[in-house]
Amino acid sequence: MLIKLNQTMPIAGQKLSLRCPGCGNIGSFEPIDLIYDISVPMTTTVLGQRVCPNPECRTHVFCILTLQGKIIRSYPPERIHFESGSIPEPIAKTFSEAIACHGEQLYVAAGIMIRRALEELCEDKHADGKTLQERIQSLRSIVVLPPDLFEGLDDLRLLGNDATHVESKTYKSVGREEVEIGIELTKEILKAVYQLGGLIERMRALKK
Ligand SMILES: [Zn+2]
Repeated sequence: MLIKLNQTMPIAGQKLSLRCPGCGNIGSFEPIDLIYDISVPMTTTVLGQRVCPNPECRTHVFCILTLQGKIIRSYPPERIHFESGSIPEPIAKTFSEAIACHGEQLYVAAGIMIRRALEELCEDKHADGKTLQERIQSLRSIVVLPPDLFEGLDDLRLLGNDATHVESKTYKSVGREEVEIGIELTKEILKAVYQLGGLIERMRALKK
């Protein structure tokens, strides 16, 4: 008896909403002309390829989907956009690793790297103290930030603590949502500390 269980089936690919690993924008990724999706024999898994709709980018992504078109994994993984201009290299590198961990769904590792970026920020600004809590406190007299962002720094410290320890004390978990907000908050803090000055200078340079 012949059972064709190992037969692959080409499927016309649909557009997929993805955050581009290249340009960082969320876009409706298009199938590639004449390249069909393939259903994996004896599974409910579909494999496909898509490209970023941004004409300047056109990053090529491999996707694993369900038969219903839900994305299981994509490669290169989705990556939150981060402009590292004017940020000291060690901090930018650590924070980029946090973003890469998030893309790989390694949320606890991402939480630890966010905390490390804060440690490096304090070190760069010579904010001293025995603990990170004390160093953040002394940072208040060194850099000018809106009070809410200082509160945010302390929340990020606690997120990093929870990521480091086996049992979460402050947050319900160190998962996708906590890390995504943590990354956005860190971006705002880094922007305020390192990038705003440069932007103001560029604006001033345009005056007559
Ligand atoms: Zn792109």
